[in-house]
Amino acid sequence: MENIFNLPLEKLENKLENLGEKKFRATQIFEWLYKKGVSNFFDMKNIKKESVSILSENFNIDFIKIIQKQSDKDAKKYLFELEDGNKIEAVLLKQNYGNSLCVSSQVGCSMGCVFCESGKNKRVRNLKPFEIVQQILLIESDLNIRVSHVVVMGIGEPFDNYDNIIDFIKIINHPKGLDIGARHITVSTCGVVPKIYEFAEDVGQINLAISLHAANDELRSYLMPINKAYNLRELMKAVKFYIQKTNRRVTFEYIMLDGVNDSEKHAHELISLIRGINCYVNLIPYNKVNGDKFSATSSEKIMKFYDIIKKNKINVTIRKELGSGVSAACGQLRSEHREE
Ligand code: SAH
Repeated sequence: MENIFNLPLEKLENKLENLGEKKFRATQIFEWLYKKGVSNFFDMKNIKKESVSILSENFNIDFIKIIQKQSDKDAKKYLFELEDGNKIEAVLLKQNYGNSLCVSSQVGCSMGCVFCESGKNKRVRNLKPFEIVQQILLIESDLNIRVSHVVVMGIGEPFDNYDNIIDFIKIINHPKGLDIGARHITVSTCGVVPKIYEFAEDVGQINLAISLHAANDELRSYLMPINKAYNLRELMKAVKFYIQKTNRRVTFEYIMLDGVNDSEKHAHELISLIRGINCYVNLIPYNKVNGDKFSATSSEKIMKFYDIIKKNKINVTIRKELGSGVSAACGQLRSEHREE
């Protein structure tokens, strides 16, 4: 039986029509689920009894479960258990512009980036749209807040779970759904090039972030195996296509790894790679993972790297080290849990 939270409005309309129901029921259900927070078909007051039985015979409305929370001043981290016992996490960051939630897209990840905790555990399976949507719903209701921004930057590679991510975006972006504006939704990829083209065509104004981390192929292939399948030339071509199609600015994420990708030479390589592209660079302080061979670049050295980029008139920011008190780096809470 399908979980009702899996379905964008149009898909729900089609399913209902196939069950002999009127199309407008879908809008009514969406309002109950996403506006009024009702999670039981029997409480949907404007839906007649016969339709309620049809709904409950054809759809379930089950939730994933919050099993652990950690918090500090500006970050709250949640560990969830899925129906099959797998665990995923989401992190809520209080920003000056609102509540930004970082959601997971897969259980584990197969991309194998050498510095990343999630990649050590390999992909177990893709998340269904309902399992991503409910990360938002459960945290909103737990904290009694509204999530204003969503970043798909938690565990997993979203473009390795493309169709479900698109359905998830349709649900949260729809005015009758969670109504989170396209410009408040960001998808981050390690560089699955064919999906960048599809994304540019499919979803319009959703923000795209690229985990770049190195601006030469040799270093990037060492850090991120995906670069062996799609090198920087192909990646940049796809990024330019996305910008041309959407007119949106792309974010390049760049983790600062001490002695690996953080020298002046690396800064200049980065500048020549992205010069002239409508983008900004987000320098990310590395979050050290237990027993890892990498260390974080010092703040002084990050500032130096930042200054070089800035002097070359490229927009650049340094990510605030939010949430370092709550194992906020990708996959860390889940992996602490696995070791227990
Ligand atoms: N697979 C997608 C999204 C998930 S990873 C992607 O690669 O973009 C989200 C971001 O966290 C990526 O930029 C990733 O490279 C980064 N990241 C992974 N491990 C990290 C760590 N230990 N410290 C800081 N950032 C990390």
